[in-house]
Amino acid sequence: MLHQLVVLGSGGALPDLKRNTSSYLLLLEKEYILFDCGEAAQHNLIKYGYNKNKINHICITHLHGDHVYGLIGLLSSMSMSGRQYPLIIYGPIGIESFILHQFSFTEFVSPFLINFVELSNNEKCVIFDCKSYSISAFPLKHRIPTFGYLYQSKQMDLNIKKEAIEKYTLTVEDILCIKKGESIFRNSKLIPNEELVFVKSQPKSFAFCSDTIFDEEIVPIISNVDLLFHEATFLEIDISHAIKKMHSTANQAGEIAKKGNVKMLLIGHISARYDDFDAVLFEATIRFKNTILATDGLIVDF
Ligand SMILES: [Zn+2]
Repeated sequence: MLHQLVVLGSGGALPDLKRNTSSYLLLLEKEYILFDCGEAAQHNLIKYGYNKNKINHICITHLHGDHVYGLIGLLSSMSMSGRQYPLIIYGPIGIESFILHQFSFTEFVSPFLINFVELSNNEKCVIFDCKSYSISAFPLKHRIPTFGYLYQSKQMDLNIKKEAIEKYTLTVEDILCIKKGESIFRNSKLIPNEELVFVKSQPKSFAFCSDTIFDEEIVPIISNVDLLFHEATFLEIDISHAIKKMHSTANQAGEIAKKGNVKMLLIGHISARYDDFDAVLFEATIRFKNTILATDGLIVDF
């Protein structure tokens, strides 16, 4: 199964010509999930060649402008391009009225159904569940109510061994059952599923944590994920700013990745005060080796 994360906006609060505000697109086989929608997210969708109408879920972390100002423009463009499929928008309490007020002032009527799911949970809970994946939301600690998200795929992608088809003369019905993980009987003997299939790919997971102060309570939630996005707004030398503004340092992002034993760490949301992003990456890498820096247009396979 395809799992790629595209960075649409890697920047912190202030956009510049190279870095849009926060927005990350998760590409799945048949649809996309958008995490945050900073200003001009839709421009980068166009620039990098992704169809906005393949987005079926939008997960908003919090209502600070750099994470949400692109939403109204994206919804408007979806409507003008003839979208009919429903869309689900998750976010803290207030996300619905934030959008509906803008609809009202601009006399905009959405031609497609928008389901708003407002979050107020104080522990991790599943907010969407289907046959192939689930999305959970969990609280982060920031200046206003903020949520992290955890995507987990379910399918193992089982493929039938060719020799098993001949050996056990498998029917189409047999194959469908085996692909679901079931075993079969032949001459009153149980043939275990493992003998009939090989695993093409393991389930994948992705956690999105922005914005947040350093918070070890998220470690059990993000533990062992294939890809963790964690904000790294400041360098450790500016930790007093990080604490005051309830953000994290690159060192702390690395610390969370290490404690969570994640496979890969992606850092972003770096303050515009720094000219040298290599220093930020270096700081995180000292703590957690497999770290990469988010840049607009970057595609991360996991
Ligand atoms: Zn914020």
